[in-house]
Amino acid sequence: MSILVVGSVAFDSIKTPFGEVDDVLGGSACYFSTSASFFTDVSLVAVIGDDFPQEHIDFLSSREIDLAGLQRSAGKTFRWKGRYDYDLNEAHTLETHLNVFETFKPEIPAAYRDAEYVFLANIDPELQLDVLSQVKNPKLVACDTMNFWISGKREKLIRTLEDVDILVINEAEVRQLAEEPNLVKAAEIVRGFGPRILVVKRGEYGVLMFGEGSIFSAPAYPLDEVFDPTGAGDTFAGGFIGYLAATRNLDEHNLRKAIVFGTVMASFTVEKFSLERLKEIDYNDISDRYKKIKLLTDFADLD
Ligand code: AMP
Repeated sequence: MSILVVGSVAFDSIKTPFGEVDDVLGGSACYFSTSASFFTDVSLVAVIGDDFPQEHIDFLSSREIDLAGLQRSAGKTFRWKGRYDYDLNEAHTLETHLNVFETFKPEIPAAYRDAEYVFLANIDPELQLDVLSQVKNPKLVACDTMNFWISGKREKLIRTLEDVDILVINEAEVRQLAEEPNLVKAAEIVRGFGPRILVVKRGEYGVLMFGEGSIFSAPAYPLDEVFDPTGAGDTFAGGFIGYLAATRNLDEHNLRKAIVFGTVMASFTVEKFSLERLKEIDYNDISDRYKKIKLLTDFADLD
């Protein structure tokens, strides 16, 4: 079953302790759709400027991502500049240039309007709401956001969350959104805004999923080298929602499996800059790491 995703398509400039790149392909929707495309069909809604090269379009097409909703406008593509210190869990935003996103009006192609699975990747919550107003009756709406929008567009974001089933968000951002330092309490507050499931991304410490009366914890895949964490969260969400859409099953057991698939996908992204590592892998690499995570967390019963 296909997923409709709206989010950013970007040029990222990134500095980590291990290297530096300028204007590489990034953006929440790019990472998400590439990751999800290993599991199911994806239709991408976003805007690019007239500086966006054909090479990147060819790559997204090679993943069979439907680009009918990718608009090209006069002006520059969205740009993000960030830096990481030795604590790779924390991205320091140096510059955000919305560029063509400032005037972007999402137009959902008619064929996408009855999408059953919708992912509102990290983007202006007003655009997320606009997309939701154009889809008919989705079975599942999931959403991501970041500190930039929590502090800049809090009211709109909280309004968007009323219509969201699953929120996928960083640990520090849950605390910021809930205005509550304790994570368990913060999760309950945020669930009270709308999402019945809250997935908290904790970088190298893994993921916590909060549902009605249940908490699930998955570790990150242990890597001996993490090169650049940019895109890990969106890649995680792509694997998570991609697996849910492919299996069409939202029960607790399947949600847990989906969390592990998301974790596996994110573990590839962080091994290289941009989407370079995702360009190299195939489904065998994914299932291999999935089995390794299963072994990592396997332990005997007490009896
Ligand atoms: P993450 O998965 O959280 O590491 O997301 C990284 C991606 O988010 C980068 O490729 C950026 O281009 C993109 N990004 C950064 N800031 C924003 C923003 N304010 N709105 C939308 N996308 C953003």
